[in-house]
Amino acid sequence: MSPFKDLTDSTPNERLFKLDPLGMDADSIGRDFQHYYAHTLGRDRDCRSAYYPYKALAVSLRDRLMERWKLTRHAHDQANCKRTYYLSLEFLMGRSLSNALLNLGITDEARQALYDMGLMYEEIESAEMDAGLGNGGLGRLAACFLDSCATLQLPVKGYGLRYDFGMFRQLIENGRQLEEPDHWLRDGNPWELERPEYTQRIPFGGHTETHQDDQGRMVQRWVNTHDVLAVPYDIPIPGYQNDTINTLRLWSATATDVFDLGEFNAGSYPESVAAKNDAEHITMVLYPNDASENGKELRLRQQYFLACASIKDVIREWQRLHGEDFSAFADKNCFQLNDTHPAVSVPELMRQLMDLHHMQWDEAWAIASRTMAYTNHTLLPEALERWPVRLFQQLLPRVLEIIYEINARFLSEVASRWPGDMDRQRRMSLIEEGDDPQVRMAFLAIVGSFSVNGVAALHSELLKQGLFRDWFELWPEKFNNKTNGVTPRRWLAMCNPGLRELLDETIGNHWVNDLSQLEKIAPETEDADFRARWDQIKTDNKRRLAEMVGSTCRIEFPVEFMFDVQVKRIHEYKRQLLNILHVIHLYNRIKHGDGHIGAPRCVLIGGKAAPGYEIAKLIIKLANNVAKVVNADRQVTEQLRMAFIPDYRVSVMEILAPGTDLSEQISTAGKEASGTGNMKFMMNGAVTIGTLDGANIEIRERVGDENFFLFGLTAEEVEHTRAHYDPNGIIAHDDALREVMALLECGHFNQFEPGIFDSIIHGIRNPHDPWLTAADFDSYRQAQQQAAEAYMDRPRWLRMSILNSAHSGHFSSDRTIAQYNDEIWKLTPIAPTHPGKR
Ligand SMILES: *Cc1c(COP(=O)(O)O)cnc(C)c1O
Repeated sequence: MSPFKDLTDSTPNERLFKLDPLGMDADSIGRDFQHYYAHTLGRDRDCRSAYYPYKALAVSLRDRLMERWKLTRHAHDQANCKRTYYLSLEFLMGRSLSNALLNLGITDEARQALYDMGLMYEEIESAEMDAGLGNGGLGRLAACFLDSCATLQLPVKGYGLRYDFGMFRQLIENGRQLEEPDHWLRDGNPWELERPEYTQRIPFGGHTETHQDDQGRMVQRWVNTHDVLAVPYDIPIPGYQNDTINTLRLWSATATDVFDLGEFNAGSYPESVAAKNDAEHITMVLYPNDASENGKELRLRQQYFLACASIKDVIREWQRLHGEDFSAFADKNCFQLNDTHPAVSVPELMRQLMDLHHMQWDEAWAIASRTMAYTNHTLLPEALERWPVRLFQQLLPRVLEIIYEINARFLSEVASRWPGDMDRQRRMSLIEEGDDPQVRMAFLAIVGSFSVNGVAALHSELLKQGLFRDWFELWPEKFNNKTNGVTPRRWLAMCNPGLRELLDETIGNHWVNDLSQLEKIAPETEDADFRARWDQIKTDNKRRLAEMVGSTCRIEFPVEFMFDVQVKRIHEYKRQLLNILHVIHLYNRIKHGDGHIGAPRCVLIGGKAAPGYEIAKLIIKLANNVAKVVNADRQVTEQLRMAFIPDYRVSVMEILAPGTDLSEQISTAGKEASGTGNMKFMMNGAVTIGTLDGANIEIRERVGDENFFLFGLTAEEVEHTRAHYDPNGIIAHDDALREVMALLECGHFNQFEPGIFDSIIHGIRNPHDPWLTAADFDSYRQAQQQAAEAYMDRPRWLRMSILNSAHSGHFSSDRTIAQYNDEIWKLTPIAPTHPGKR
């Protein structure tokens, strides 16, 4: 039912698609802006809202993205290239406007156009809501990776879910976290393009039955399913000034048009409409748990919905280009699984190849097991996903049959490798036996993948020695490391324009997509003029940070103070508590008349706690109560101030990273897989105080021991300490910690709220405290003292700051993605045609 007349003469089509390239100068942008503002959005001079200018500019840019987007798609089709699909339940994208301007290379032109119309760019930029479709590091990594893939011109497509409600908004009331829904789509999303023509049908429930096909073979059918529709929304992902626009495709759930006729005819019209509602609930909300399991049925529905829709979409594209010939499918397609969240893709690809495309098991397995690659993101046992077999049976009976078959074949491989080792078979089974048997999703991902990677050197080693030891013994060749990275476009060029300018002037502008070039600024540490400019830029960025803290927390941060920042999800293993104990220690010193705590400091903590994580929420309350006592005391505020910044998110980090002096990366060693906040701070010239955990180890290797404040037990020491850990003995023998505990225990920070912090106090004193807070306190305090002394030596501190930026090149996600590509994906970069050259 095409609207196009089927003419042998193709003139009408030619005319429809022949467009002049859009101008990239200030005048052209300004004209489009006026048109959208006045005609499309219908606003005039009476409108005071910054939202409509934002929208008019966004749509003007979208047009320019759109013309390049099509050319990128055509270039990929023409090249018949191999492609990778990044499957993730989370994409923490943040704002898109400034990123689009930077990557299109028209930041100055757009600013000029707005200026000519009397508009302030900064106001317009802040009218955009963050796209908060992720919890923290894992989701932000996916966003940085998409930016790097487009910049490296790799044919990579992201697949995720279009949640109606992203990460909750955090309010702080009386020091406690309150959650508010994040209805980020309320005013529309100018960056997305709905693609109803690529809608997919996703089965749930029903049962399976055996039947005979036309060739007399017995095959399984999944019948009586309750289907839900998956509608894709595409978001353009621009590469850095290279005309490449890749795609992030997000699925939204909607009911099938055909209501349940049984219910309908039985007169249950409301019930059948309610069923429509059920279907749409699948993509209603992001689960707000970071690094812990979401054992809810709706979460499994989300996972299958993503896997099924994305694989169907990839196979549809394959058929468009290759018909029913799947012989080269594994050579041309790769799925990268972002943690186990999309691991159901392994049996789902098998199901589609067998049940929908008539393959036999061996043929389908040869494809699936050469196509999937799995990234592990955590060693924390509470984050290891397991789903009850009964839930699978109910929701995805056909998928469960395939998991059982994969497991049976796999266990016979284990049996032939280790004959008679029943314990090993039990340990490695994809099904954990028990009263309520469970499917082990990490094991399913490993069996079905040709590559398994951790996200920092230490983490990848610990995986091989611990959690996946048996698997490493069986398939050592599958295991590899890909140390995380962050995109230098957003996390340096975009968020730190002052530093960008200095870098451009000093070493040219090629560092933006070749971050190793930052090494060239290392010799400048000896140049006093360069150091003075560095100092000035940092001070300006600190002023911007202080303005944000002033307006949101009503606390004044003087720019001469050392800005000491810890922002990340609130979790016991990240040890915000250790940081708070140190603030109490400094407070105690000042109250005892210590007129010089080394350097005056502003301590900033921020982050969201999972709504059901009571201890984490209590840590937020403690941070706020300590801040209140500190800031209310005139004797103390001369040397120490503290704030808790509410609603930490990507756009807040864009202000924090450039304005930070000291970056807190203080997790219990062996617990933080990589960390990426540490990398954003380093790039922007913050010095790290940290443990030998995750990527901190690699950061310290690059920047040098003398430019990093190290403290705490190593991962190995942590494991050895557990058996004889005696926090009460440690507290008794450490004057500083004993006094801190005494202040906490006498209720000094909860005068009118007796007992509220008891569980925190007991946690610190518990010999089974998994996070060993007391064990690391003394060495943390000493490292903090050294940091304060270094800060007071201005030339020394500036050298350290400059060297942190200079040696941060390794932590560009461009380096990470180049390694994924060289060692796992093996894609060829494709350059599209320039829009002006057609
Ligand atoms: C980078 C980032 C994170 C990850 O921070 P870590 O310190 O590595 O846990 C979390 N949330 C946001 C908004 C980020 O930008």
